[in-house]
Amino acid sequence: MAEKKNVIVVGGGCAGLSAAYHLHKKGYGVEVYEAQERFGGRMGIYEENGYLIDEYAQFVHPSYKKAKEMLTEMGIIDDLQPFDLGGGMNVWFNNHWVAAFPDPSDAEAVAANKEWMEYMGEDNFNAFVAYCAKYCDGKFYEGSTDWMMDCDQDDGSNFGEFVKNNFGERVLEYFVQPVVASLGLEYPEKCGTAFGLQIVWTVLVGGAAVLKGGLGRLANEIVNIIGPEHVHLGAPVAEIVIEDKKTKGIKLESGEYIECDTVVCATTAPAALKITPGLPDYMRKPVERVTLCRTIHSTLFFDEKLTDGKKPVGGLLPRELGEPFCTCLFQSSRNPVALPDDHSDAMSVFYFGEDQLPKYWDLSEEEILEHTFSVVKKYFSELPDHYIGGHVVKAPMANFTMRNGCPSAIKEMRDNHYKDIEGFYFSGDYMYTGSYESALNCGCNVARCIDGEIESI
Ligand SMILES: Cc1cc2nc3c(=O)[nH]c(=O)nc-3n(C[C@H](O)[C@H](O)[C@H](O)COP(=O)(O)OP(=O)(O)OC[C@H]3O[C@@H](n4cnc5c(N)ncnc54)[C@H](O)[C@@H]3O)c2cc1C
Repeated sequence: MAEKKNVIVVGGGCAGLSAAYHLHKKGYGVEVYEAQERFGGRMGIYEENGYLIDEYAQFVHPSYKKAKEMLTEMGIIDDLQPFDLGGGMNVWFNNHWVAAFPDPSDAEAVAANKEWMEYMGEDNFNAFVAYCAKYCDGKFYEGSTDWMMDCDQDDGSNFGEFVKNNFGERVLEYFVQPVVASLGLEYPEKCGTAFGLQIVWTVLVGGAAVLKGGLGRLANEIVNIIGPEHVHLGAPVAEIVIEDKKTKGIKLESGEYIECDTVVCATTAPAALKITPGLPDYMRKPVERVTLCRTIHSTLFFDEKLTDGKKPVGGLLPRELGEPFCTCLFQSSRNPVALPDDHSDAMSVFYFGEDQLPKYWDLSEEEILEHTFSVVKKYFSELPDHYIGGHVVKAPMANFTMRNGCPSAIKEMRDNHYKDIEGFYFSGDYMYTGSYESALNCGCNVARCIDGEIESI
C-alpha cells in the first residue's frame, strides 16, 4: 500500500478538526494550524465557579448523524442530555408568555395558545407548517444540501418576505421571526428560504440535547487523539500557496513557509478568500456569496433556582418589542448539570440584528450584563433582584445565513470544480448548511475525498 501523505489543515474549528480526525483515522499525518490561541473555533466551553457555558454551538439536534457518530466513537455519547426544544418554547404575546406547543393537560396554556393561534390565523399557520413539511419531512438533514435545492431560488427574495406574502404578516411576526432569531440569530429578511426552513423545522420537530461538560469536549477529544503536538495554536496562515493549479504549501503570518501538496482550508469563508489569492474566480465567487451574522451571547448567573426544571426552556421576544435580543434560555430547564449546585441558575440571551448590535458591540462585559438584566427583568418577573455574575462572548462571525442562491452556487462548485486545484480542499460549515453538524460532516467528507473514496464532498 502506498504511504499516506501528510496533510496540512488550516483552521482548528469543527470542520478542520473533523477533517484532521478522519484523516488521522485513515493513517494520514496531519498538522493543524490555528490562528487563535485556542482550538475549537465556534465550539468552546467557558467555566467559572461551577457555571459551565457552551460559548457558541449549544445543541445537538436529533437529526445530527455525524456528531452522534463521533461522540459514540469517543465514548461520550451517553453524556448527551435531551430536552424538549420546541415544546419548551414560549413567545411573548399580548403581554404574557404563550407556549408555542402547550401541554394538552394544561388548560390555561392551551387557552393562551388558542388566542395566539387565532391572532395569526390557524389556517395560515397550518399552511405554513405544511409548506415546511413539504421540503423537510423525511428529507431534512443539516449535514447536506440535497433537501433544499428546490427551494433555493436565486431570485433576490428572502425568507421573511416569502412568509409574509404567502402566510401573512402575523405568522411572520409572532412565530417565524422569533423562531428564526432564536436559533438563526438573524432577521428572516436577511436569510434565505432554506435557512429559514432549517431553523423552523428544527423547532417543529422538537427535541434537542446538550452535552454534559459542554460541546467543546468533542474538540478536546479530537485533539487528544491526533496529538496536541500536531495542533499549532497562535499560528495564523497568511496564504495557501497555489501555483499552476497545484497546491504548494502554506505561508504563516510569521513569515515561515511550509511545503505541502495537500492543504485543507477550514477557516470561515471570509478568511478562506483572504488566504487563497491563487484560486480561480469560479471557485472564489460562490464563497464570496456566503453571508455571516454576528451575535453577543450574554449569560447572567444567579444564586437561586429560576425554574423547577419542568418549566419552559426559554422565551422568545418578537421584534415589535424593540429589544436587542429575542431568545432567553433558562439553564436549569436545559442543562442543569452545568450549574454549580441545586440553588443556582443562569440565563442566556443572544443579541442580534444590525439595527441593534452596533449600540452594544463595544460595551464592556459589565455594561452588557447590566443591560441584559434590565431587559429580562421586564419579562420574567420571577427573577431575583440581582445577578451574581455572568459571562459575555462576542462572535463577529456567528452563523452562515444562506441567502437565496448561495447554497446552490456552492453546490455547483462542489459538484463541478471541487478538485480543480490539485491538493486544495475547502472545508467549513458553509459548504453545506452552516451548523456544527454541517462542519463535522464536511470535514469527514473532505478526508474521504482526499483518500479517494469519493470524488467530491
Ligand atoms: C452563539 C452561537 C451558537 C451556535 N449554536 C449552534 C447550535 O446550537 N448547533 C449547531 O449546529 N451550530 C451552532 N452554531 C454554529 C456552529 O458553531 C458552527 O456552524 C460551527 O462551529 C462552524 O465550524 P467551522 O469549523 O466551519 O468554523 P469555525 O468554528 O469558525 O472554525 C474556523 C477556524 O479557522 C480559524 N482561522 C481563521 N482564519 C485563520 C487563518 N488565517 N489561519 C489559521 N486559522 C484561521 C478560526 O480561528 C477558527 O478557529 C452556533 C454558533 C454561534 C456563534
